[in-house]
Amino acid sequence: MPNDNHGSQNGDSSLNVGVGDFRGANVSINQSDRPTFTPEQMDIQRHPAFGGLGVRSERVSVFGYITGIASLIGLYVSLFQPVTGWQSSWASLFMFSFIIGLMAVVFSALLRRRRFDHFFGSRHYLEMGVNGRLYVNRFTATCPWCGSRMHLRHVGPKEGPRDDLFICERNPRQHTITLDPTVLPEID
Ligand SMILES: [Zn+2]
Repeated sequence: MPNDNHGSQNGDSSLNVGVGDFRGANVSINQSDRPTFTPEQMDIQRHPAFGGLGVRSERVSVFGYITGIASLIGLYVSLFQPVTGWQSSWASLFMFSFIIGLMAVVFSALLRRRRFDHFFGSRHYLEMGVNGRLYVNRFTATCPWCGSRMHLRHVGPKEGPRDDLFICERNPRQHTITLDPTVLPEID
């Protein structure tokens, strides 16, 4: 028998615990268990946007703080002016720039920890290099099943968790690979 139980079944009839082993057993943790590929096998390519221009993350935070504080002052001033026609439009403009400033601060703080995040659209990603600069990149790869081109896309339900998937151009339903951003090479 190939799947012999090699464990001990001895006991003194009080409590009998079979200490079996799992040699030859097929343990399936996940039904959708998929093979994993290395970046080399997939030939992952980074495509820099904005000509590979990087922005120092500290500058993004400073920009965020200054924009945020300036908008709060602007909002305060515009709300305590005598009511005129331009008041509400200025107030909404300052609200808008306050949100931009807040996003800049949150984004740069988040990226310092994660180094990789979805940025805008479905194909642009924000990455932090070893030098602390932020870059916007797109990613492509070669499908390990059929050799077609794959694009990294941020997909999922509108509200809810979204995944970063490499999706094959030829078979976009079945040829998908979830990206683990920690396997990507560092940006020098
Ligand atoms: Zn494919």
